[in-house]
Order: sequence, then C-alpha cells, then structure tokens
Amino acid sequence: RATLVDDEEGGVLFVSAPPSSSSSGFGHSSLERQRQRLPVFKYRDAILYLVENHATTIIVGETGSGKTTQIPQYLKEAGWAEGGRVVACTQPRRLAVQSVASRVAEEMGVKIGEEVGYTIRFEDQTNPSVTVIKFLTDGVLIREMMDDPLLTKYSVIMVDEAHERSLSTDMLLGLLKKIQRRRPELRIIISSATIEAKSMSTFFQARKKDLLHAAEDCVPSHLPAILSVEGKGYTVEIHYVEEPVPDYLQAAVHTVLSINDKEPAGDILVFLTGQDDIDAAVKLLREDTQDDRRRTSGLLVLPLYSGLSRDDQGLVFAPTPKGKRKVVISTNIAETSLTLEGVVYVVDSGFSKQRFYNPMAIEEDGFGERGGRRRGKEEEKEEKRRNHTYSQQHTMGDGEISDIESLVVTPISKASARQRAGRAGRIRPGKCFRLYTEEYFLKEMPTEGIPEMQRSNLVSCVIQLKALGIDNILGFDWLASPPPEAMVRALEVLYSLGILDEDAKLTSPIGYQVAEIPLDPMISKMILSACNFGCSEEIITIAAVLSVQSIWVSMWGAQKEFDEVKLHFAAAEGDHITYLNVYKGFLNSGKSSQWCYKNYLNYQAMKKVVDVRDQLSRLLRRLGLALKSCEKDTQAFILLFTCPLTILRKAIIAGFFANSCHLEEYSHNGLYKTVRSSEEVYIHPSSVLFRVNPKWVVYHSLVSTNKHYMRNVIAIDPSWLIEAAPHFYQLRAPNLAPC
Ligand code: ADP
Ligand code: MG
Repeated sequence: RATLVDDEEGGVLFVSAPPSSSSSGFGHSSLERQRQRLPVFKYRDAILYLVENHATTIIVGETGSGKTTQIPQYLKEAGWAEGGRVVACTQPRRLAVQSVASRVAEEMGVKIGEEVGYTIRFEDQTNPSVTVIKFLTDGVLIREMMDDPLLTKYSVIMVDEAHERSLSTDMLLGLLKKIQRRRPELRIIISSATIEAKSMSTFFQARKKDLLHAAEDCVPSHLPAILSVEGKGYTVEIHYVEEPVPDYLQAAVHTVLSINDKEPAGDILVFLTGQDDIDAAVKLLREDTQDDRRRTSGLLVLPLYSGLSRDDQGLVFAPTPKGKRKVVISTNIAETSLTLEGVVYVVDSGFSKQRFYNPMAIEEDGFGERGGRRRGKEEEKEEKRRNHTYSQQHTMGDGEISDIESLVVTPISKASARQRAGRAGRIRPGKCFRLYTEEYFLKEMPTEGIPEMQRSNLVSCVIQLKALGIDNILGFDWLASPPPEAMVRALEVLYSLGILDEDAKLTSPIGYQVAEIPLDPMISKMILSACNFGCSEEIITIAAVLSVQSIWVSMWGAQKEFDEVKLHFAAAEGDHITYLNVYKGFLNSGKSSQWCYKNYLNYQAMKKVVDVRDQLSRLLRRLGLALKSCEKDTQAFILLFTCPLTILRKAIIAGFFANSCHLEEYSHNGLYKTVRSSEEVYIHPSSVLFRVNPKWVVYHSLVSTNKHYMRNVIAIDPSWLIEAAPHFYQLRAPNLAPC
C-alpha cells in the first residue's frame, strides 16, 4: 500500500510522494508497455488508495499523462466494475468521448460497445449487460438522471476536463454533490489539466452528518483528496509575430509552409476556430500541394473538429507514414481533450469559437435593465479595441449583441495559450508559433477564460434542473453562480414557450415532454407543435438536420458552384423547407454517397440525419404522440385550410418565434434587425435566402465573425408571430403589423 503524506490544511488533504512502481500483473505487449510509460502509471496505487478512502478525489495532471485512458482501466482492474457496477468517465466533447473510448477498447483488446462503451446524444454504443467502462458526455449523464436520479449503476464517476468549466460540467458537479449525500458508497473523481484544485475541493467537502446512511466502517473520508500527477513535458520554444496579423487564416497557412521549408521532421498541429476556417485552411494547403510540388510534397493535411467521421478521426491518430509530415488543423479540442503523438510544432491562431450570450434586457421595449452586467462598459470597450487592432478580418469577440446566444470567434486566454504550446513538447523539445505579438500576450490576453455558465443562454439548463425536481435554481449549489439576469431571461423564454407556468413549474404535458426530448427546447417545442399541426413527419426531419452540424460540405472558395447545386433543392420559403427536399433526394438516391458527393452534401451528416430522425420518431411514439405528414395527410390540410408549407412554417415559428427579424427598409446590403432587441444581423451565405432577403424571417442560430450571421432562415408572415406568441409580441413590439 502507498505511503502517503497526509497534510491536512484548511480541511483539504494533499498527497505527495507517489508510491514506486505498481505491482499489477501486466503482460508486455507493446500497448501495455506504452501504458506503463505514461506518467499516471507511477501513481496507480496512490489513485486507487485515494479513491477507496475518499468520497471525492481530484487529480490534476498535464494533458497526455494518461488520466482519461488509464484511470478508468485501473478502477476496473481494482474491482470497481464488478457485481454489475459501471465506471463512468464524462467528457464535455462528443468527439473526445468517441476517441478515448476507442483507444481504451483497443488497449483492453475488446470491441467497442462491449466491455468498453460510450454514449453521446443520439448514439449509444453500450451493452447494458456487459459494459463496465462507459465514456459519455456530461450532458448525457445529466439526462440519465431523469430515469435514475441517484445514478445507481455507477460505482465511480470520473468528471474529466473539469478545467473547461463547460455548462454541463458545472451542472453535473452540483448534481453529483447532491447524489453523494444519498450515496456514500459512490466515488467521484474530478480530473483536469489545470484546475483550481482547492476551490473544487472546498466545493466537495461533505459534512460528516450528510453521509447519513453509511455504516461507520464504510464511511469514506469526507475530505476530498488532491493528487497532482507530474508529467515530463519537454521545453517548447515560443515564437511570436512582430506585428499583429491581419488575417490569422492566411498567417496560419504561411506558417505551416515555412515550418515545412525550414524545420526538421515532426508533425504540425494548428489551432483554428471551427469547421469553416479549418476546411478553408485544409483546402489552401492541399491546393498549394498541387501548385508547387516541391514545397508541400510530403505534407499530409488533416482536419480535426467534431462531426468528423470515424474514418477521418482514425487518420488523425494513425502514425504518420514514413517520409511524410502530418499537419492537423484543429479546433481547441486538441488543446487538452485529445493528445496527438508526434507533434513537434504548434501554430496558435490565438482564437477559439465560443458560445456567447449577453442577457442584457431590452431597453426600448419596457423591460428595462435588470441589474448588474457581467462586465463593465469600459472593459467591453477595451476588449473591442483590442480585437479590432489585433485581427480585423476574423474577429468579433466583443459580446455587444444582447439577449441572443451566438457562436463567436473569441481571443483565447493565457491559460489556453500555454496548453496549446505544451502540445509541442510531448516527444521532444518543440516550437510554438503564436500568431500574435508578445506584447499582446503579456499585456492584453486575459489570464483565464470565462466559464461557459457565465456566457451561455441558460434555457436548457433551467429546464433540465426543473425536470430533475430542482425548483429553486438560483439556490442550487453551483460551483460558481450563473448570472441572475441570464436566469431570469431563461425563465421568461420558457414561460413564453409555454414550458413553464406562472409559478415557474414545468407545464403538463408540454413542459415535461420538452424535457424528455434531448434537443434545444425551442426545437422540442417546434416538434410538439408540429404534432398538433399534423406535420410531425416533416418537422422531425427538419429537427434532425438542425441537430447535425452542417449537411453541406465546405463551400469555401466555391460559392458559385455551391449556389448552383443548391438551386436543385432550394425552396423559396427558406432553408428548413430546402432540407426536406434534400432529405427526399437522399432517400430517393437510395442513400447514395455518390449522390451526396455530386450535390455538395456531407454523406456522414446525411446518414446521421436519417439515424437521428429514426430516434426522434421512436421517442414521439413513446410519448404517445402522433406522427403525421401534412403533405400526405389531406385531413390536416382541409382542417387548417392552409397550404402545407405554411403549416410547416407555423410549426417552426411555434418554437422559434423569439428569433424573428425584419429587413431594414432602406437597406441595400441585406441588413436585418432582430425584433426583440434591434440587433443588426445578416443572412449567412450558406442560406438559400442569402441575397433573396425576404422582408420578415425567423432564424435558427447565429454565428459571429466580423458580423452576426443568421443560419437556417425561413421567410414568414409577421402576423404568424402574434398568432404563435401574443404575449411575447405585445410586450416587445406592439406595432408589429402584418405586411
Ligand atoms: P490525459 O487524459 O491525461 O490527457 P490520455 O489518457 O488522453 O491523457 O492519453 C494518454 C496517452 O494515450 C497519450 O499518449 C495519447 O497519445 C494516447 N492516446 C489517447 N487516445 C488515443 C487514440 N485515440 N489513439 C492513439 N493514442 C491515443
Ligand atoms: Mg484527458
């Protein structure tokens, strides 16, 4: 057994001095040797000792030290997965769940979905009778609590990547703390790359009297233990640009080419922000290969973002072929969630895409300002200035847009920049090329990121907590409290959707049904309304398309061809109806990959749409709701005296009425303003209504780069808004008149 130095300081137990080598009876295959070389291996006994004796163990260790892939295996080897119990490990990101689960299955020599399985939304690769190690997103684990509030099948729950502070991770930590009081035998491990271990630990200090039902001899220590795993990381030389770069995408491409020209062998990892700019960079680099064989021959350029097919993920992790240099262009998923072997050079754009939400009340419409803003005006101005001078072309990051959540390209924090650089020092000393100035890094880059909780729309969070019986959401035990104004906003939206009643309780049946559907509440509401309108068959297809990232393949640099192809499917009503045409075409083609290729459609995404749609139709049947088609079912048509395309749009509006916008009267450049807060927005170039610019539209989501763009847009008649949500529109826009 380990010799541990217990140093009780302010109620926190620190552990130092790891025990020497472990005595587990491993064989010596190459994978097992790799496992034993990981830094975490030296701590195997210490970890097992702590987990046995402490209700909560916090493990801090550098990325790549083996926390995610090894600890669940150690727990299983030590018997935590016997007697029908399961070891769970949560991740904030779906792609990370799939990737680490396959790695662990490979290390254990089992088929994925058997002893080692994973569950992400709409994809369950587990077998309840044999799965003993289960990887899942933190969101899925919260959903599991609806059926099993105490998560009784799990013996140990490892909440991984806690430093990311995703909204679901924060919720999960609060919920687990509650469960722990009722289940003293449950063990929690919180692990992360960097963490404020002490504040986590204080949060998890259970009071002895809370551990009610435990027999005296099995009470684990109520003090959380903290273990720090020392990794060996090599030094990384940091290079900055001398002047701010005007376009980080071009700069990233040039930097990769120049590394390839000047630096010795070693793979390159590039951090950009999302599918759009990653696909663009991949294309530029691959084109360059064709233009100039000498410079880029030998470059193997691969993208890495969520939504990538299994095969493409496999390529990223496969060893680099001899004589080649791999260039992986990634979102911040490769910052700490995934480790790529062989990386020696990192190119850091300094940006990532983040959710951003500013719940500022709308002043013009009589709601007034509801108290404290998250940041002062001055700070915001300062940040705006910085972003502007720093990179004019690709940055927004100013968070000025209010009451609407959007995905924003945002400057990263120093903590992230350090993590990114660290990825270059895994196998030998490496180099990190930062596409920003040293002065910017030292003086202007924020030290830490803002937890997602503080920059998200809380609608989904509120509804889930309500469904779990937590009514006083502000009084919930949060690791850090969410902004009260965001909470109030969420309650208002849910009330206007008819999901909460006047006492802020879930309505029956709508509220409870919405909570059962694992989608954004606006989409769920749209589906439920479609059941009343008699068009649920069509609407679940639309919901399925909206829930995959994008069904189109990258149109970067090929707008004209893309526009032409889209014309085959385009519906004057907008994108949602266009998706119905695409889906029909896909089915008619016999779900052909060739057909997708010809039509600029992502085959994997289309297969996923079919799969998600199937699951939604099963879910509706389980909820006892009718599946009807407004095209086929003439009864609905006659009943409503309306054409099917109008019925469909009304069902969409029943969920998305709050996202309405009107075209500015004298606008020649397609400027719209949102009805609820008069924000300036434009139709995204990927929309079929781009350049069509109907007078009134409703959108599904916003993305922001240098402007705010609406994605997935339909044209509407404004009278439908008042019809769908009279209370909402009377308050916000009393003069809203039909055109
Ligand atoms: P941590 O969670 O501490 O960041 P991991 O357990 O994810 O570390 O990774 C440990 C090791 O396993 C790393 O060296 C990494 O390269 C390797 N590894 C993880 N996932 C994969 C994968 N899908 N394919 C190949 N190697 C992997
Ligand atoms: Mg990990």
